[in-house]
Amino acid sequence: MAMERLFPAHCVSCGARTPGHSHPFCEQCLIGTSLLTPEMIFLPRRRMAPVRVAALFEYGASVRRAITAGKYGGEPWRLRQLGRLCAPVARIFEPKVLVPVPSAASSLVRRGFHPAWEVAVGIADELGADVVMVGMRKRGYLTQASLSAAQRRQLAPSQFVISRLPRGPYLIVDDVITTGATVSAFATALELHGAKAAIGAVCVAASV
Ligand SMILES: [Zn+2]
Repeated sequence: MAMERLFPAHCVSCGARTPGHSHPFCEQCLIGTSLLTPEMIFLPRRRMAPVRVAALFEYGASVRRAITAGKYGGEPWRLRQLGRLCAPVARIFEPKVLVPVPSAASSLVRRGFHPAWEVAVGIADELGADVVMVGMRKRGYLTQASLSAAQRRQLAPSQFVISRLPRGPYLIVDDVITTGATVSAFATALELHGAKAAIGAVCVAASV
């Protein structure tokens, strides 16, 4: 079991058998991944997020395939492996608690898991932080980048049902960040429900 965690027998992206291989991506898929450079790990402020957001990979072909297979192919182990890779980036924030962005209830029923939860568990395996699912996301959540900050603040709480407040310095975790609207709305919803501000957010990949 522990060996399987350290040396997964299958590539996280293409699924090829990789016995004894020490990296989640096989050599072929590793060629198709781009780690964000140290200057890029912290995404530029133009992303609309009230917290500092860090991401590990560019959302390129190999990472996209790994995340898609994890989310839509019912293979959460892939997301956990990606989470393990994100641990060094998450460690920069020194979080006590990892708070995954909840999936919409309908997606949770269909998949049986929250993708961001799986990523967070992978990070927690390495860091020893706690993972807390604080609530649920409603259907039809908004992601319009065109909304003003004031509009987002007004609408954000309506798309998340927060039932538990995170304690301690907490770090938001998600799989992919594009506009930043989801992370932004989630962070705002938590604050409006009385949680202290997040110390940041970590995502596996950013479409840059
Ligand atoms: Zn592969």
